Amino acid sequence: MRITLTNDYHGTEVQINASLGHIDNAVVARLTRNQIAKSRRVLCGIANCQCGENEARTRGPQSANGNRLVVNCDAIYRGAKR
Ligand SMILES: [Zn+2]
Repeated sequence: MRITLTNDYHGTEVQINASLGHIDNAVVARLTRNQIAKSRRVLCGIANCQCGENEARTRGPQSANGNRLVVNCDAIYRGAKR
C-alpha cells in the first residue's frame, strides 16, 4: 500500500509503496533496503544530520489510513551491503 512518511524537522515527506502488517493498534511498514534509501534521500539527504528516529529518517508521528504507523527498518540490517 502507498504510504506517506514524514520528517517534521525538515518538513519533508515521501511516498513509499510498502508492505504493511499490524501489531496491536498500529500498522507496521516493513521497508526494503531500497525504500529506506529513498526515504533517507527525500526526507533528509544530509549525510551527518542527526534528525530522524530510524534509518529511514522519519521524524514525528507517522500514520496510514488514520492508524498509527510504525516504521520498521530491519531490512537495512539484513543481507549484504558491503
Ligand atoms: Zn535531517
